[in-house]
Amino acid sequence: MIGLYIHIPFCASKCYYCDFNSYAGKGNLAGSFFEALALEVESYLKQGVFDQGVQTIFFGGGTPSLYIDEIIEFLNVYYPRWKVVSDAEITLEANPGTGTAEKFEKLRKSPVNRLSFGFQSFHPTILKKLGRTHGPEDLFQAFQMARNAGFSNINCDLIFAIPGQTLEMWQEDLDRLIGLHPEHISIYNLTLEEGTRFWDWYARGTLKMPDEDLQLTLYQLGIERLSKAGYQHYEISNFALPGFRSKHNQIYWRNEEYLGLGPGAFSYLSGRRFSNVRGIEEYIQRLFKGDSPVVEEEIISRNKQMAETLMMHLRLTEGIPLAYFQDRFGVSVEEAYPQALQKLFHLKLIERVDGYLRLTREGLYVANEVFIEFLDPEP
Ligand code: SF4
Repeated sequence: MIGLYIHIPFCASKCYYCDFNSYAGKGNLAGSFFEALALEVESYLKQGVFDQGVQTIFFGGGTPSLYIDEIIEFLNVYYPRWKVVSDAEITLEANPGTGTAEKFEKLRKSPVNRLSFGFQSFHPTILKKLGRTHGPEDLFQAFQMARNAGFSNINCDLIFAIPGQTLEMWQEDLDRLIGLHPEHISIYNLTLEEGTRFWDWYARGTLKMPDEDLQLTLYQLGIERLSKAGYQHYEISNFALPGFRSKHNQIYWRNEEYLGLGPGAFSYLSGRRFSNVRGIEEYIQRLFKGDSPVVEEEIISRNKQMAETLMMHLRLTEGIPLAYFQDRFGVSVEEAYPQALQKLFHLKLIERVDGYLRLTREGLYVANEVFIEFLDPEP
């Protein structure tokens, strides 16, 4: 079975920190984009890629909630042809201020059963600093409209370590979000990405990022507050009420198979990772000409598959079942990475608990440094 990711690359405007493959001011291409997307789906249908069954669908972006009517129409045609399992999780990313009550109601009558809102903050000054187009009142309104429409599985994203954000502001953001009782919450540490306005401002010295100590304090506060409110901390940045962990993202974290459609989308099928051309125009042109949008492809070696499986699983707070690794690769984690494990156990960054290998609390705070240890295969 596979997960299906569909990338809708259009946004109303570009947020100052965002390096996703998303574009503002290109809405005139939307009609052709959906036609091209249909052609891409048809080619995978011909290859039988959906025959193994689809367990999750995720409309990400970009801002898919700008195109609710088009997505419903698209699903009307293709959903019945994808062999989607009966309890599939079907998520659509939404930005506050982009949907109406009527559109959310229509959407709830479609197969979409989960919404993921990019809230980011409840503070107007912070939203403005991020270049978000919505205000705090839009967050409450969007959430209420989604609930009224009948959505009972909602995720909301928040960002911390934003320039100018104090500990108190972050605490208020967490408390306000907890007050809304979404089923799932993601908290992301703001990072500077090349090609963004934040990157340029930082390089010119006009943007000051919070220091590492403050970033860690904000993260720890997030874990503490959300855990106290009953959210299970199940992945580095993700928290869920019991029964509401993201099925789609767990496919990535377990290094299982997925198909990505749309500009810049990545796929991982039969040990092969491949990605589509990033530009919307190029994506449309290729498909209209009958060409494949795939521009990069890599056969993932067994060593790389082992490393990726381990690193992705370690993002989950429960870690990786040691027996699962042994079954998948015919070798134990201890045999595959004796030196890395010795070092990380010694530094108390990983631990073995009930047949799982997982990050310790300290390991969680420096996860990327832990992952680096598994990049090179050991003899
Ligand atoms: S709405 Fe999302 S995808 Fe679009 S620019 Fe902002 S952060 Fe990026």
